[in-house]
Amino acid sequence: MPTRDYPLEKVRNFGIIAHIDAGKTTTSERVLYYTGSQHKIGEVHEGETTTDWMEQERERGITITAAAITCFWARTDEPDKKSLDKKYRFNIIDTPGHIDFTVEVKRSMRVLDGAVVVFDGVAGVEPQSETNWRYADEAAVPRICFINKLDRMGASFEKSFQSILDRLTKAAVRMQLPIGAEEKFEGVIDLLQMKAFKFEGEMGSEVVEMDIPENHRGDASMYRAKLIESIVEHDDQLMTDYLDGKEPTQEQLKATLRRAVIANKIFPVYLGSALKNKGVQLVLDAVVDYLPSPLDMPPVKGIDPKTGEEIFRTANDQEPFCALAFKLQADPFVGQLTFFRVYSGTVEAGSYIYNSTTGQKERLGRIVRLQANAREEVKKVYAGEIAAAVGLKDTKTSHTLCDEAHPIQLEQIKFPEPVISLRIEPKTKADQEKMGLALKKLGDEDPTFRVSTDNETMETLISGMGELHLEILVDRMKREFNVEATVGTPQVAYRETIQQRSEAEGKYIKQTGGRGQYGHVRLRIKPLEPVVEGKKISKNITREDHFEFINSIKGGVVPNEYIPAVEKGVREAMERGIVAGFRMVDISCELYDGSYHDVDSSEIAFKIAASMGFQDAAKQARPVILEPIMRVEVVVPEKFMGDITGSLSSKRGSIEGVDERGLARAIKAKVPLAEMFGYTTALRSMTEGRASFTMEFDHYEMVPQTVAAAIIAARK
Ligand code: GDP
Repeated sequence: MPTRDYPLEKVRNFGIIAHIDAGKTTTSERVLYYTGSQHKIGEVHEGETTTDWMEQERERGITITAAAITCFWARTDEPDKKSLDKKYRFNIIDTPGHIDFTVEVKRSMRVLDGAVVVFDGVAGVEPQSETNWRYADEAAVPRICFINKLDRMGASFEKSFQSILDRLTKAAVRMQLPIGAEEKFEGVIDLLQMKAFKFEGEMGSEVVEMDIPENHRGDASMYRAKLIESIVEHDDQLMTDYLDGKEPTQEQLKATLRRAVIANKIFPVYLGSALKNKGVQLVLDAVVDYLPSPLDMPPVKGIDPKTGEEIFRTANDQEPFCALAFKLQADPFVGQLTFFRVYSGTVEAGSYIYNSTTGQKERLGRIVRLQANAREEVKKVYAGEIAAAVGLKDTKTSHTLCDEAHPIQLEQIKFPEPVISLRIEPKTKADQEKMGLALKKLGDEDPTFRVSTDNETMETLISGMGELHLEILVDRMKREFNVEATVGTPQVAYRETIQQRSEAEGKYIKQTGGRGQYGHVRLRIKPLEPVVEGKKISKNITREDHFEFINSIKGGVVPNEYIPAVEKGVREAMERGIVAGFRMVDISCELYDGSYHDVDSSEIAFKIAASMGFQDAAKQARPVILEPIMRVEVVVPEKFMGDITGSLSSKRGSIEGVDERGLARAIKAKVPLAEMFGYTTALRSMTEGRASFTMEFDHYEMVPQTVAAAIIAARK
């Protein structure tokens, strides 16, 4: 029986989620500082002042942006903080600050068990916080709220707390009250314990108990009663006792609150000022007390890749190994890191693992865990833990790693097809090389980013999920890889297909002196049903392009050696499209007849003949342009409903429904991508910045006649 390096109930995998500027970086830095200084006790770090350490940290800028970082924390009231068995292991998973990275946000929600949501104590809940909150709702992630920046002018705990109640959830409860406000913000009152704390010493690292100031006692008692009422509601026995006038013990209250938080029934709210070093440690105590350990999580679901049967795995070291690779990240010291979460079993450095997504075995060389100022080499990783592998070459984001004898495929993180593309041209020859390398790296890290070459112009095209997505990738290419490049404007990734059967002949014959050329084919084409994740639906494609080539030549009228050239010619013609030059998809092509010449026939002649024949056939098969249709969701306060539905309809959109989302409304619609450029700005001005929207690719659909005419005109 393997012995764990750390008991699983003492592990917390969580993320810090925040609206940009709410103070996620500052809070994370404090977390690393407090946990680091705890960890460092007993080690030699003389002469290194705190600020130095922070400076270096910032310069290196690695850990704060690491996909996952490990640190240790013993509760503030723990007398024996140095003892390892009093400490909890935190694996803090990075969550992107920007909602345009839908995929990234959803991906991180997949691997974390809980979250601390940071709010700006002046602005309260902002539109992006609403969007992130919704993703966390969908993934049922237990959450603790931290109202930050209470030292700022205009900050208000009460107003911010109220905005959480109004805009996010009625299940938020005050765990603390502030002592003083703005520049007089001094400390916090813990309502459960009825104790007050201030923060002293270097970086506020000493949490010192103080008396609850006289003028705060009334409020504290009142809100404490409220808090206890909202806790006992979740336990029948406690409720009965409470109504009988018996106050539950601290332990009972905490245990009940823990269950309710894990069940997403209560969201405890804490407060402080990360910048002024107040309150962060108590939030870490709350992570220990109320956020789930991997043992509290339901089993993870997967399928048996051979039988398609559902399998469940639990966070148990004895079960067969399975893990999800959730992020690839370039590391300046060791190259590529592949972050993974182990869902069941264990894995050792140096062992061979099976990637059930690719069907390949790979050697897991070294394993590391990133800490604030060190990389810890790990020999073995246990169920429920998070670590990073060095040197995995063919494992990409969202692949499942497992034991070959007990294969499982975890639910894939679904990545939509990129729908927007732009041309990018390196400035110099040197840039060209660097650009190729940079784009490959970025593509490896991000499955929704693709690179291709325009066959006609030989220009490089990059494709992604949206304007901002590409903008940021281009920026990273310039900054991180020093590539100078000119960038075109974003374009919708249109496609083409045909609507009926047809046939045609392609002849490429040149016999003027010397060696001639002779290629001759007869082709039949027909539309193919597009494939949608295993299910067929008509006129829509959401997955791989569908192409079928059938060779039904009899008696060698086209010799076998030329057949691949014929297929190649057809594929190349499809790449160029015939209506407006967009790639054609969902076509079946049959080569059924042709002829050849003993001397003059060649691969190139057949390729050209096939290409010409295909184009001819396609022209007669009622070709059309397809456009990406997006699933759009706009969340707005009710009073803007009419404006938003009107604006979406005017964009050729169809409204599919409206949901209540707390106090706001979520409007769901399908809208062509071409109409959605610049929508962020338009939405902001229509709603005083109170709306948020998300957009995901849904399917491809035929464009209406008038629109097609405009697209064709623009291409000429
Ligand atoms: P992020 O964008 O969420 O990572 O936010 P940052 O941590 O970078 O903070 C944004 C700005 O707010 C920075 O200028 C911080 O110094 C400032 N800030 C962060 N926390 C506090 C706080 O508690 N009080 C005050 N007054 N400013 C803060």
